[in-house]
Amino acid sequence: MTASSKKTELYAGFEQGPIRPPSEAQSLLIRITRNCPWNRCTFCPVYKGETFSLRPVDHVIADIDAVGHHVEFLLRMSDASGRVSQADMNAYHLQVAAPDRPAFFAAVNWFANGMESIFLQDANSLIIKPEDLIRILRHLTARFPKVRRITSYARSHTIAKISDDFLTAFRMAGLNRIHIGLESGSDEVLKQVEKGVDKKTHILAGQKVKNAGIELSEYVMPGLGGRALSRVHALETADALNKINPDFIRIRTLAIPSHVALHEEYAAGRFEKLTDAETAEELLLFLETLDGITSTIKSDHILNLFEEVEGKYPEDKARMADVVRQFILLDPRRRLLYQVGRRLGLLSRLSDLNASHLVDRVDEICRQNGITPMNADDVISDLMKRFI
Ligand code: SF4
Repeated sequence: MTASSKKTELYAGFEQGPIRPPSEAQSLLIRITRNCPWNRCTFCPVYKGETFSLRPVDHVIADIDAVGHHVEFLLRMSDASGRVSQADMNAYHLQVAAPDRPAFFAAVNWFANGMESIFLQDANSLIIKPEDLIRILRHLTARFPKVRRITSYARSHTIAKISDDFLTAFRMAGLNRIHIGLESGSDEVLKQVEKGVDKKTHILAGQKVKNAGIELSEYVMPGLGGRALSRVHALETADALNKINPDFIRIRTLAIPSHVALHEEYAAGRFEKLTDAETAEELLLFLETLDGITSTIKSDHILNLFEEVEGKYPEDKARMADVVRQFILLDPRRRLLYQVGRRLGLLSRLSDLNASHLVDRVDEICRQNGITPMNADDVISDLMKRFI
């Protein structure tokens, strides 16, 4: 979008982008840019074919005010316990004009979730002018003074170029958590998947966020290096995180839907995808190499094989590594049952293999669908595509 077209863009009402981190499910989503300014990562299915643009700050402010207007009504209608009766809600809904309904629904959803957090969309909100971001943050905290957390996605490449003074100013204006898609600390892997950033820049950006007093959440992607780079991916990613010591390390295992560029490499045999057992080996090496940090590991994505690999370093390190080790040591049949049961949402931890009513169901599904240890990874690959 050119500067002149930006000036003439008319406000078309409240907007929401397509995604947010799993941990922001209860947040109000405020869209300050559209899509991704980089948009080249070969594993990423989001925003492809979409053009990046900045939203005029006045439009963002109008979105915030539109939600704020509805929140005020909802608060006025609520009883002592904070609830609004269905009858009052229906009556209010009928008064809301159609163009204003997206803001109304966003307000109702946020109100129902306790109105504690806000997430700034889309993929890299920190790319806007620092002064504009500060204006938006100040407006948010003025309009919603009880909000406890304002968060955003940002690229390391962008953060590395922002002055420490501005990062501190963001924190003082209310931005208290940043989510970065680190994915890998290996320069070879980062280059291979066209992440557009190297390990050094990832480390610099992470350290800058931490030094500014902003909570930092780093996403890592087991399996991203494929078979050829699995070991270096685990070692270098852990090494980068050891130097950053983020507040959160969030695991999101690689899946390869057919509409991403990496799928072409995979289909042509140039990228060898890890099996679940190989991913477990890589994850174990990663967990064992993380050292000297106080980060919390989160496994809050359905693509991950181990929901229970969650905890804080250093005290939970041995327990988390042991979960993965136990899986690796399972006999092929029980390993298959766990893999399939987890991806179907029937099992969530290894100890669920002791629950015969659950295991019998998974066993029956495997039999009905001809799933065996030999074809399990292909079947699971297909299942995982549905979760993206
Ligand atoms: S920077 Fe993030 S949103 Fe953009 S293409 Fe890469 S992974 Fe996707």
